[in-house]
Amino acid sequence: MERSLVLLKPDAIHRGLIGDILARMERRGIKIVGLKMITLGNDLIADHYSHLASKPFFPEIVAYMTAGPIVALVAEAEGVVSLLRTMCGPTNSADALPGTIRGDYATTIRYNIIHASDSIETAEVEIKRFFAANELSDYGRIVLEG
Ligand code: ADP
Repeated sequence: MERSLVLLKPDAIHRGLIGDILARMERRGIKIVGLKMITLGNDLIADHYSHLASKPFFPEIVAYMTAGPIVALVAEAEGVVSLLRTMCGPTNSADALPGTIRGDYATTIRYNIIHASDSIETAEVEIKRFFAANELSDYGRIVLEG
């Protein structure tokens, strides 16, 4: 089953949005198979955003993502990578439609509340970056699977 890495960024935690964002995923039928709160070090976040290392705003991203704890989770569902990108809305929250997570809670490109993996291949790498194998749970849901 397809999996995606999701990070609720420090602004989501500061603003008390953890429950709301998790509830949106659960209501949609997405299964959470790993979940933890952590404070990121510079090295891990520099690795995670290495595709942006040459950008002038890179130091601000690192400062933002290490400013407080984040919630990391692994989400599982059919087509979950693309489904979560749709639920998040575009990177620039100013372009995000109401009803999306960024469209409901954010206004800027930088402080955009949430990360979700952008491809199945990226998700595999990102999940390993944030979770050890024994931090992920395989469990069935009688109503929704089988
Ligand atoms: P996404 O998070 O939607 O996959 P990117 O990987 O391109 O998008 O960007 C990673 C994060 O870097 C964004 O979520 C945002 O927090 C920040 N970011 C991206 N572009 C900018 C920008 N032009 N100015 C400031 N921050 C940015």
